[in-house]
Amino acid sequence: MIRAGGRTDQLGGARICDACGGTVLVPFADLGEIPVFCGVHWGSPTEALASPLGTMLLAYCPDCAYVRNIAFDPAALVYDTTMDTNLHHSPAFQSFSTELVRHLAGRYPLRGATVLDVGCGQGEFLRELCHVAGARGVGYDQMYAGPIGPDPSGATFHSGPAPLDDRLPAFDFVTSRHWFEHLDDPYGFLVRLRELAGDRPVHGYLEVPDAGYDLATAGWEVIYPHVSYFDGHSLCRIVERAGWRVVATGPLFSGMFRYVEIASKVPASAVRAELPGPADRDRQLDSIAGFADRHATERERWRSLIDRALAAGDRPVLWGAGSRGVQFLHLADPAGRLAAVVDVNPRKWGRYLPVTGHRVTSPEELATLGTRTVIGTNPAYRNEIGATLRELGVEAELLIA
Ligand SMILES: [Zn+2]
Repeated sequence: MIRAGGRTDQLGGARICDACGGTVLVPFADLGEIPVFCGVHWGSPTEALASPLGTMLLAYCPDCAYVRNIAFDPAALVYDTTMDTNLHHSPAFQSFSTELVRHLAGRYPLRGATVLDVGCGQGEFLRELCHVAGARGVGYDQMYAGPIGPDPSGATFHSGPAPLDDRLPAFDFVTSRHWFEHLDDPYGFLVRLRELAGDRPVHGYLEVPDAGYDLATAGWEVIYPHVSYFDGHSLCRIVERAGWRVVATGPLFSGMFRYVEIASKVPASAVRAELPGPADRDRQLDSIAGFADRHATERERWRSLIDRALAAGDRPVLWGAGSRGVQFLHLADPAGRLAAVVDVNPRKWGRYLPVTGHRVTSPEELATLGTRTVIGTNPAYRNEIGATLRELGVEAELLIA
């Protein structure tokens, strides 16, 4: 039996597409067991090595190219304040985020308005948006570990999930960055938000990893916490099916992210951007068709590269202990042969990564290792990593996986 509305049948596992609601999802890549907690950095190697694994079985919609882990178990992944998926330690991400704040403050009438930020992380973005736009904000995140309540920026923070009922203030603008793809029921979330908007003119901004990138590449960002994989086409489909209108959409951050600006009603002044069409969907279906082979090939390629570097007496390191890094290590260095894993976030230094147990070190420690090969997994940080290596006086080749 198949239940409509994007639910998975308990017996057969068949699931109707969450995005378009029209077709049963078709499995296409079985990634086996992967780390559940990419954003947890453990205090001891024992805890890190005992960190749980979860099954990743990707399935796609032949009609709209939506992709989902149909083996996802929401009970396996509970978010709390010990997790740190914060991207704001990187100058490249910070300046991108600042530019976004300027864009939204210029485009929407946010002065005195109420902005709801669902999945606000540690609140950097909402604080900056309230400050620049003169808005009031309310932010929710189970991972939020800062002071609870109002702060001088005009934002009020809660450590916990957004209640999505009459406990929320009437919001004029809703933002959610890098949270929507984590939801077990993304369609239900958008429907509930639309109901809460009611007859009011509410606008919003959603930002997710772009599956147009993730599924066309090695897929280091195909991680357990990401339940859904949206390209431009499937993101617009789910938004519009839930009763929102798409005002604009496009890629961001070297094509790795995708945004969509939405409205409860399209005002006369809003020019609807040209939405992704069948050609975009077909390109994504091609990426999906090649993904399983590409993923396996890339994993082997990086294992061999690390083998050769070690055999040549090199001490290769990985730069970046974020979720992409954790996934890369699990697939390409499960035995922990890299000399170090470096990260710019001081909260991660001296801590251990889930499942593989790699210890995270500061960039300064790298200068003492005699490394000739530095591996990064994120092309958007190539220049930033290169500049830091030069500052540290590390003469190593930078390879982006
Ligand atoms: Zn679909």
